[in-house]
Amino acid sequence: MAGLACATWLHRAGRSVLLLEAADAVGGRVRTDVTPEGFRLDRGFQVLLTEYPEARRIFDYGALNLKAYQSGAVIRLADGRETTLQNPLQRPLAAFSALASPIGTLTDKLRILSLVRHVAKHTPAELLARPATDTLSFLRRYGWSEGMIDNFFRPFFGGVFLDRDLGTASNFFEFVFQQFVRGAAAVPALGMQQLPEQLAARLPTGTVRLSTRVARVEGRRVHLENGEVLTAAAVVLAVDGSAPAHLLPGQVLPENGRIAAARRTTCTYFATPAGAAAPGHRNGLLRLNAMPNQLAHNVVFASETAPACAPVGRHLVSVSTHGAHGLTAADLTRQLREELLAWFGPQVAGWEHLKTYEIANALPEYAAGQPTQLPLRLTDTLYRCGDWSAYPSLNAALATGREVAEQIIEVLSVEC
Ligand SMILES: Cc1cc2nc3c(=O)[nH]c(=O)nc-3n(C[C@H](O)[C@H](O)[C@H](O)COP(=O)(O)OP(=O)(O)OC[C@H]3O[C@@H](n4cnc5c(N)ncnc54)[C@H](O)[C@@H]3O)c2cc1C
Repeated sequence: MAGLACATWLHRAGRSVLLLEAADAVGGRVRTDVTPEGFRLDRGFQVLLTEYPEARRIFDYGALNLKAYQSGAVIRLADGRETTLQNPLQRPLAAFSALASPIGTLTDKLRILSLVRHVAKHTPAELLARPATDTLSFLRRYGWSEGMIDNFFRPFFGGVFLDRDLGTASNFFEFVFQQFVRGAAAVPALGMQQLPEQLAARLPTGTVRLSTRVARVEGRRVHLENGEVLTAAAVVLAVDGSAPAHLLPGQVLPENGRIAAARRTTCTYFATPAGAAAPGHRNGLLRLNAMPNQLAHNVVFASETAPACAPVGRHLVSVSTHGAHGLTAADLTRQLREELLAWFGPQVAGWEHLKTYEIANALPEYAAGQPTQLPLRLTDTLYRCGDWSAYPSLNAALATGREVAEQIIEVLSVEC
């Protein structure tokens, strides 16, 4: 996404661009596989927050045919009971009071209102620049009860950060909280890969070369693994966090090559049998599991929100497990099935396991004190971008791509 954003802005400024992609399609971590039966499987459950400032700048939302998740969640509480929260961040008093919700005290609800008002006063950039601690300490300092943290913040934001310990920096929490208050969480009707495909389709034919791996970069010369050498006025490394060091042999990076560790997640897909309804149809609400020591951390009936993700008559179920679980895919599937049977009832026995995605480098870790942006310009002709150079979000990938494009345009205009 960072490379595509950079190419998009350079192209819009009249520069010619070549984008070299090692994989067989664009998107990097934003990919969608289509099975022979017609299920569309995103490689890991992810959403576009429609208010992301960079997404609004670059995407044509209408053409993406976005399908928004209903704001809220069905939460399986730590004691096994279930509660439904509609619009918890937009209408906290109504949401947490509904049917005498067992989540949170009155003070907890008032504190949500107070945080909603606080984030409304700031721009996204101001929130990201705020002094940070880890999110758990921030929530405790703000005064929320442990029940509210365990039953709401941990399953909800722990799912966004892929970090149920909530060690992620609080400035990023404030930014994400604001994005959820202001906008929707949505997916393109045909899956998340439509995002990168839209950007790639707007570039001139021949701009993107797929299945083309870069071996190393020396100055303005790019050595491909197939032996070809290309030269450009400027080179941008829009690769994932671990790649720059080995692509730049002998070059000292500003942070001595230290890169953030990665957060991992596993996404297991099931399909309901033909003709069977999705369990407890509730208009596309996310299911969050606040019970401790479970593997099914969140469950999404994806085809309720985006029907084209499943063939007619069937439903696609995505189950996410955050962090390391130490199980084989077969053992994980077996244990997930047991948990889901207890959660959704005997119909789970008839669900077909479609695929398991183990994603070791899903998000870069982002801890308090980490800079909101590493230097993107390494030399006058060498640049880098990507979420790992800022914070763990699509917004960061798109933003750093644009910022690098602007820096290059400025340098090249001076040279002209
Ligand atoms: C499961 C999951 C859930 C997520 N959920 C969300 C979410 O809900 N909201 C959100 O905002 N973000 C989410 N994210 C994060 C978001 O997807 C990333 O922040 C973003 O896609 C990162 O883009 P990038 O361009 O920085 O990096 P990448 O997507 O990692 O792209 C790097 C590219 O470089 C290519 N490459 C690497 N080495 C070479 C080489 N030597 N030669 C040529 N090409 C090379 C790779 O093939 C890849 O295409 C999620 C990510 C995952 C995996």
